[in-house]
Amino acid sequence: MTRLAEFHRRATEELSAEDPDLFLLLEREMSRQRSTLAMVAACSTAPPSVLACAGSALANVTTEGYPGGRFHAGCDVVDAVERLAVTRAREAFGASYANVQPHSGSSANLAVLFSLLRPGDTVLGMDLDAGGHLTHGSPASVVGRYFTAVGYGVGPDGHVNLHEVAELARRHRPKMIICGASSYPRVVDFAGFRRIADEVGCWLMADISHVAGLVVAGEHPSPVPHAHVTTTSTYKQLYGPRGGLILSGPDADRPGPGTNATLAGTLQRAVFPRAQGTPDLAAVAAKARAFAALATPGFRALARRVRLDAAALAVELQDRGQNLITGGTDNHLVMIDVGAKGYTGVVIEQALEECGIIVNKNRIVGDRKSARVTSGIRLGTNTLALRGMEPADMAVCAELYCQAVGAVDQLDDVNYRLDPVTRDEIRVTVNGLCETFPLPGYDY
Ligand SMILES: *Cc1c(COP(=O)(O)O)cnc(C)c1O
Repeated sequence: MTRLAEFHRRATEELSAEDPDLFLLLEREMSRQRSTLAMVAACSTAPPSVLACAGSALANVTTEGYPGGRFHAGCDVVDAVERLAVTRAREAFGASYANVQPHSGSSANLAVLFSLLRPGDTVLGMDLDAGGHLTHGSPASVVGRYFTAVGYGVGPDGHVNLHEVAELARRHRPKMIICGASSYPRVVDFAGFRRIADEVGCWLMADISHVAGLVVAGEHPSPVPHAHVTTTSTYKQLYGPRGGLILSGPDADRPGPGTNATLAGTLQRAVFPRAQGTPDLAAVAAKARAFAALATPGFRALARRVRLDAAALAVELQDRGQNLITGGTDNHLVMIDVGAKGYTGVVIEQALEECGIIVNKNRIVGDRKSARVTSGIRLGTNTLALRGMEPADMAVCAELYCQAVGAVDQLDDVNYRLDPVTRDEIRVTVNGLCETFPLPGYDY
């Protein structure tokens, strides 16, 4: 056995012997993931080799700066690891610049915003309820407090209307436009956004946290040739560790904002020293591992299945009378307006959890319920597709969803009764599905 394998084996034994309470919780969480149908659009399941990197001794390395220019000694190995992660990220996305140090997607966005803009500058981003992310200008985020945030929504058909975005851009003259979303089921026209950014002379940041895997696999247009900067989280559709990534394409070598540095140079300093201190080098190794997988035919097939599964799931749900936002999907996620049938998102989320189906409640356009109640449910197929479920298997998932909803007797916004017989029947079917389609690498 290699030293590394022996280390992980002994580490697990030590944990179980010395801290059985915590060990049991970790075991329980693994069982939960194996035996439930995860349909949370923002989640995925990292291959064990990714988690092995994330829990490796690289986590012990404290340093600052970048490969070849660290502020501490002893960095030969981590320099090679970080260079590998950067090269793999650039190759996967066809980018000329990549920064693998952001601790999360939000950190990546904040680093970009705070380096390209000045306090008070105007940012034009997608409204939270239309599908945008907190960091795109919400008053609940530091972004809404330090910048002047203007939001664009969606048209009556639920789609982003670029004419509306262009009008807002002309009226408010933003210093940055942000495109990309957290709960938007349609294709984002990055080239169209760039035309608007060029017309008003501002930066374009594309945040592809949710669709990064589809982008890599060619299942969704890539923003990298169009946006000045592209950001993503690494734990959603890239099946990597928790963390963020910043990319830049053809604009990487153009001048940054009012300095003699290039855009790439500005982004490099944006993460360190501006926004972060030490990188998490174990996470960087885990990113390198996840990025290697992106180059394989297996990943392309997975991403394609993710998209086709979502399309099939949307059709099956709609056939069973569910109200889908925009009437379907182009990507991995399906948004359901449960308020249309008198339910709240929180009630449906909890009822489904009792049945072994994990989803998340989500506010929708014009939602009159709070973020803890909501009128929407967001579904995604990242983990269903990873389990090997095909479009033909989405009928049973849609059926289980509808059976669970049909068994709910909602008493008020947050309280409900769930028919226990139906619940137990669904639970049995879910268990069967989880055994037929085991999570790769977790199936023993
Ligand atoms: C998930 C997400 C992020 C980043 O989230 P973190 O939790 O900070 O990693 C950023 N933007 C969008 C659009 C997202 O969906």
